[in-house]
Amino acid sequence: MTHPTIETLTPATWNVIPGEAPDGASQACIGVLALQGDFLEHSMMLRHLGVQPVEVRLPRDLDTVDALILPGGESTTMVRLMDLHDFREPLQRRVREGMPIWGTCAGMILMAKSLAEDRPEPLGLMDFTVTRNAYGRQLESFETDLDIPVLGDPALHTFFIRAPGFLELGPEVEILARLADGMPVAAREGAKLATAFHPELTNDFRFHAYFVAIANEALAQKKE
Ligand code: GLN
Repeated sequence: MTHPTIETLTPATWNVIPGEAPDGASQACIGVLALQGDFLEHSMMLRHLGVQPVEVRLPRDLDTVDALILPGGESTTMVRLMDLHDFREPLQRRVREGMPIWGTCAGMILMAKSLAEDRPEPLGLMDFTVTRNAYGRQLESFETDLDIPVLGDPALHTFFIRAPGFLELGPEVEILARLADGMPVAAREGAKLATAFHPELTNDFRFHAYFVAIANEALAQKKE
């Protein structure tokens, strides 16, 4: 057996070299909800794209960001911590006012209008219903290459870790990707995104770049 080394133990995205911010374009300040889950991985992806991420830990931190990512993790814990800090109302208000937001996995559960399960109480930010652990328990977690037309070629390598599933999608919600069996796994509604998988666990920065572009565009429109 080969022994683990610091290289094999360190997630690849932790070693990123901060990228150069593109000139000219208005740069949205992007927050990552940093209460629980894989917020560090999201922050590293953003740093690679030349975006300095802001870790959002308290509702007042929302005032400093133009867009927000809700990471993967454990949705019941995340919602409990959010409610403990009174995040619900200020976050819902910002999203109503047009703040771009993206939830991955547990973050997608938080975004839902309602859940098939009793807990947690989602934030109702996008018009869809979700079931948690749609593919079963931890052992049924899987990886797959996913065609995502808005990202172009090649397919994105994706990780589904106790992933949620969309049950019903509202009329304004666009499906961005499906599994081979037709199951939707990524959705967009205006400047809001939800993915059942974890682009933050890869070395492929295209989904983050897609969200950064949405955030920059929303900021430019606000300034007009
Ligand atoms: N199934 C988890 C939940 O219900 C989410 C898993 C994940 O974010 N990887 O919160």
